[in-house]
Amino acid sequence: MKLARHYLLPDISQPGKTGCSLPQLDVPPSELPPEELLRRELELPEVSEVEVVRYFTALSKLNYGVDTGFYPLGSCTMKYNPRLHEDIVQLPGFASIHPYQPIESVQGALQLMFELQEYLAEITGMNAASLAPMAGAQGELASILLVKAYHQSRRDKLRKKILVPDSAHGTNPATAAMCGFEVSTIPSNKEGNVDLESLESMMNEEVAAVTLTIPNTLGLFDPQIAEISHLVHGRGGLLCGDGANLNSVLGKVKFGDLGIDCVQVNLHKTFSTPHGGGGPGSGPVCVKASLAEFLPSPLVAKNAGGYVFTTPPVSIGRLGASYGNFGVMVKAYAYIRTLGAEGLREVSENAVLNANYLKEKLKAYYYLPYARTCMHEVVFSGKKQKAKGVRTLDIAKRLLDYGFHPPTIYFPLVVDEALMTEPTETESKETLDAYIDAMKKIAREVEENPEILHTAPHNTPVRRLDEVRAARHPDLRWRMGNQVKITNPKH
Ligand SMILES: *Cc1c(COP(=O)(O)O)cnc(C)c1O
Repeated sequence: MKLARHYLLPDISQPGKTGCSLPQLDVPPSELPPEELLRRELELPEVSEVEVVRYFTALSKLNYGVDTGFYPLGSCTMKYNPRLHEDIVQLPGFASIHPYQPIESVQGALQLMFELQEYLAEITGMNAASLAPMAGAQGELASILLVKAYHQSRRDKLRKKILVPDSAHGTNPATAAMCGFEVSTIPSNKEGNVDLESLESMMNEEVAAVTLTIPNTLGLFDPQIAEISHLVHGRGGLLCGDGANLNSVLGKVKFGDLGIDCVQVNLHKTFSTPHGGGGPGSGPVCVKASLAEFLPSPLVAKNAGGYVFTTPPVSIGRLGASYGNFGVMVKAYAYIRTLGAEGLREVSENAVLNANYLKEKLKAYYYLPYARTCMHEVVFSGKKQKAKGVRTLDIAKRLLDYGFHPPTIYFPLVVDEALMTEPTETESKETLDAYIDAMKKIAREVEENPEILHTAPHNTPVRRLDEVRAARHPDLRWRMGNQVKITNPKH
């Protein structure tokens, strides 16, 4: 086995080196601040311009993203998005406007927001939409606050519980708890659907709502949705959807037709803004007419004089200072207009086709707990490999050696050693085949050379990280003598 070479990125700083030459002073020198305000030492690297350029270029090449390779991180929809939409959002009429400028001067922006509200209501089969929420989780927060406002308006004080299936996204129970509800978990049945008997026994006049991630985090579409809706509404509850992963059902299924009362959609993920990296998001909430009067403000309305911001009569209020993340809205609008109804339908067809292709090609090698047609993602279990002493974490790390970002692992929790794989609609058959090949090679290595998996990754810039420390105490700043420890500089 090849031993990894450890070394420090050489400290390129040398006293006296400079990156630029300033012209001769041709104005009177200005006074320096008083002595006590001046620093004695300033630890900055002394380097030439080309060294700085190379240092940062080298750092940038250590990164992995959708622009460098396949990124099947389940539930996150790490798909490639058209560059054209990045150009559109940079148009000065979009990029240079200010939230507080006179409304008459931003009529085009308001028109875009108005039409986007309408498109999203149409796509989800709902009656109204608010673009205010700035993330998927904030859209869920809006949904649950709407549920609360709805029951309060009916003086229905008993409803303090929210039921969440165990196959829901983790933000669903967290959001319900944040809004002061008690959360109870509905178990899934053997097929990966909501266990109807359990739901039936749990659904009473204390339940404010049931939240359904559609498709659920097993990547499955629950065919019993009509029964669920009947049960929940029959006992006075509301049905909330989590539509973060809309790229699986666009143009195929409308949440409104399923009996859903409110649903948030993630414009990042589905509609042309990358998810991840902590960048701006947008999680509009779409509702049936019965909830429209509570929607978060502002909404955009059209009247005789043009477009205006409005606040619904008993709005749950604002979710942020201004109007949501406008740039993300522009890209979503451009995406919807570019693709049209037919194109949006194809997005979902390809997302589902790609996931099912992976499923069929890999199911002989990795255990498939729910052997049925999946939606935009497929969840395998590393259970067979675990029996040979190789964990899903090892498989994920080994994938890095083959040049792929691993799938989401150990989530959803209902699957032992889960590998939640979302290829997305933008990947070609060649890329999927290369990934399938790598996964098959890894399955063979589990049999023949498990050690190579335990010690993976071998050829990445850094080896296994203390992920908790990296997340809690990120070291993002250059400090003298504190360079990144790099294993394979040529990577
Ligand atoms: C991504 C996701 C969320 C959360 O969205 P954020 O924008 O990251 O807050 C919620 N539910 C599901 C199903 C998701 O996939």
